[in-house]
Amino acid sequence: QAKANGRAQLVMYSPEMGSAQDRRRAIEAMLRDALASDSGLFVEYQPIFGNKAAEIVGFEALLRLRSQRGNPISPAEFIPIAEDSGLIVQIGEWTLTKVLKTARDWPEDLFVAVNLSAVQFKDGNIVEMVRDRLFEAAFDPARLELEVTESLILESDEDVKEQLAALKAMGVSIALDDFGTGYSSLGYLWKYQFDKLKLDRAFLEGFNFASDKYRQVISTIVELGQNLGMELTAEGVETPQQLSMLAEIGFDQFQGFLLGRPMSADAAAALLTTEPHRKAAG
Ligand code: C2E
Ligand code: MG
Ligand code: MG
Ligand code: MG
Repeated sequence: QAKANGRAQLVMYSPEMGSAQDRRRAIEAMLRDALASDSGLFVEYQPIFGNKAAEIVGFEALLRLRSQRGNPISPAEFIPIAEDSGLIVQIGEWTLTKVLKTARDWPEDLFVAVNLSAVQFKDGNIVEMVRDRLFEAAFDPARLELEVTESLILESDEDVKEQLAALKAMGVSIALDDFGTGYSSLGYLWKYQFDKLKLDRAFLEGFNFASDKYRQVISTIVELGQNLGMELTAEGVETPQQLSMLAEIGFDQFQGFLLGRPMSADAAAALLTTEPHRKAAG
């Protein structure tokens, strides 16, 4: 009876599970190939605005994967596969190398933000890796921002704390990404010296901007961040109404499709020739 059930389940579930697993394997192979051949993986850059959204102050580097047929695969799908397979350690180093090469040519006051995975803190020698890549690119550490998420903090031990401190000691800044989506957002904030909080765009989705209560919650988060000496970035800004409310509440920086989508390195460089930006050259 149990056997029959098992078989029935297998028939019911195996095709779907099989294809999901096949896809994972295919993506993992794609990532390996991409690293080996230096093609398929590339980086896009999304502008981040400051000064009441009047000027570009930096860009966030966002990793992209394209299959040989040219189909884009979302980071939401390939990053977890890279993490599970351990490939994220190599991919993270590849990304930082590319990003620093690109950002080196920007006006000197612009920063670049790079996302890090918790796996890089566990399995990779993240501190040395960052130090080596900065040195190799002769890149000012003060212009590099590393984005980490709550998952890193939640699993965290003294080791993670030490690694973050070592990165900060180099002059690199640390941003807490996707803030507000996790479970214990507030409990640990005071234990870590983040330079910046990036409020998750979930906060901007489906809220009633006319609601006083909603504005109070956002204001309180901003105040909390300010009291802890952090800069605040709003991500996922899509409408002028959101932007004006967030600016009024006191956010320092703004990122979202309203202001600029992720774009190629060339497009980012071109944008800097036309858009106002920090310490505009000339
Ligand atoms: P994230 O770090 O929170 O990056 C912001 C994501 O929001 C990006 O998605 C960006 O394209 C998207 N976004 C920006 N503005 C808007 C907006 O106005 N509306 C909407 N709907 N979306 C907006 P993307 O590029 O798909 O990246 C997803 C996630 O993948 C990132 O979230 C990050 O967690 C991860 N990721 C991307 N690149 C890397 C990387 O190099 N390393 C690691 N470890 N993770 C990465
Ligand atoms: Mg990010
Ligand atoms: Mg984010
Ligand atoms: Mg996010």
